[in-house]
Amino acid sequence: MASTCPWRRRTPRRPSTWTPPRRRSCGRTGSGARARPSKLVCTVGPATSGAAELERSLAVGGMNVARVNMCHGDREWRRDVIRAVRRLNDEKGFAVAVMMDTEGSEIHMGDLGGASSAKAEDGEVWTFTVRSSDTALPDRIIHVNYDGFAEDVKVGDELFVDGGMARFEVIQKLGPDVKCRCTDPGLVLPRANLTIWRDGSVVRERNAMLPTISSKDWLDIDFGIAEGVDFIAVSFVKSAEVINHLKSYITARSGGSDIGVLAKMESIDALKNLEQIIRASDGVMVARGDLGAQVPLEQVPSIQHRIVKMCRQLNKPVIIASQLLESMIEYPTPTRAEVADVSEAVRQRADALMLSGESAMGRYPEKALSVLRSVSLRIERWWREEKRHEALELQDSLYKDLIQPFALIYILFLFAANNLGVDAVFVYTKDGYMASLLSRCRPDCPIFAFTSSTSVRRRLNLQWGLIPFRLSDSDDMESNLNRTFSLLKARGMVQSGDLVIALSDMLQSIQVMNVP
Ligand code: PGA
Ligand code: MN
Repeated sequence: MASTCPWRRRTPRRPSTWTPPRRRSCGRTGSGARARPSKLVCTVGPATSGAAELERSLAVGGMNVARVNMCHGDREWRRDVIRAVRRLNDEKGFAVAVMMDTEGSEIHMGDLGGASSAKAEDGEVWTFTVRSSDTALPDRIIHVNYDGFAEDVKVGDELFVDGGMARFEVIQKLGPDVKCRCTDPGLVLPRANLTIWRDGSVVRERNAMLPTISSKDWLDIDFGIAEGVDFIAVSFVKSAEVINHLKSYITARSGGSDIGVLAKMESIDALKNLEQIIRASDGVMVARGDLGAQVPLEQVPSIQHRIVKMCRQLNKPVIIASQLLESMIEYPTPTRAEVADVSEAVRQRADALMLSGESAMGRYPEKALSVLRSVSLRIERWWREEKRHEALELQDSLYKDLIQPFALIYILFLFAANNLGVDAVFVYTKDGYMASLLSRCRPDCPIFAFTSSTSVRRRLNLQWGLIPFRLSDSDDMESNLNRTFSLLKARGMVQSGDLVIALSDMLQSIQVMNVP
């Protein structure tokens, strides 16, 4: 638990005639949840979907975005989860955003007859079938959701379960049934994803022609719009068109579009169209689970690095997902290698880190979140201390594609933030755009963002370094400043004498001042 403000620099960068700030705590006491630059996305599942668990294990632990994976649960369960998050926000003052993650047209297995997992042992023969059945299938007979599966595979093909958690070789085809021998034993989870490999590369034949958004996904999307989710994540995106298509659908369906569309980068096709997809979307998920099943594993780190960099250049939030703390599904402490992986994502200054099975069905969801939080806080602090000069590191490329008059305000901000060593940035924003530009600079101090819209506030919660608040509309900058200074002083987040930069996208203004 953070007891001091994680943003606080060890040595204040201000002229020596100024009084150094008192040490104080910052943000929600006990959790440091609101003052941490890297954001945390938690997948909600059976381990955390009760109202008490959602609050105690996740929201209090610093969850910024709750992810509901449409591969799992039924509609009623998902509705209950989304409503429980909303209630937490309304009643307990959180601003947790809800992300609905579509299933996509991936090939996956069915349920395991109600079992939470099954062990595939070396040499065992399992049957993968496209036969549908109303009753639970016996052990080692697995339903596959893609009708073309039995036709597409060939004897000798390899079948990767969940990107390699277990591996099978196809030994016989019998009509709708495909018999496979386990060549790499492992744990098989219900609805695990399947990838077919032939002669060392992924087979993308007919399933490559399946739509990115399936008919079931469209129904889920309608449900998400009706429930007012904040983000919809699209699985297995191949091109920018599908993102544009969904965005216009959302606009038409919801009247105005305040649902962000996130592109999950997890296929070879996405990598070919990376820049166009990022430009079209409102944010990106580096979905390393499936990505690692589609490209050789050793390429995943450099792809992650490339996507994060491009997202930051194009001003889109980027989430690093899958297996960050995988071992914590079963064990109370992570491996050192997992800690190093989390550190690398923080060091790349991705906007957010995501938990999947760790928070959805693991034995230690609260501990996993706490590890994510403490590792990210520690690495952020270390990074600030060691590499302070790299804050605002992307500035040269930042204002080239900005619309006027933001460009000028922005250049002034970069100049002031670089040269004055400010303690905090205050931004008053209507649609969140200016706040996102400031987040993109990754400055060395917190960015307090004020907006009159609760949905903009929740969406800003995905972006690096932003601490969003709701503030009722006012054209009077003086009154905005005074109200927000009092609010944050009362919470111990700023104090008299702190040097702040205040910007407003509504008034198109920038000011530098000390907190009275
Ligand atoms: P999933 O996506 O958890 O929906 O499969 C994330 C990933 O593939 O990494
Ligand atoms: Mn995936």
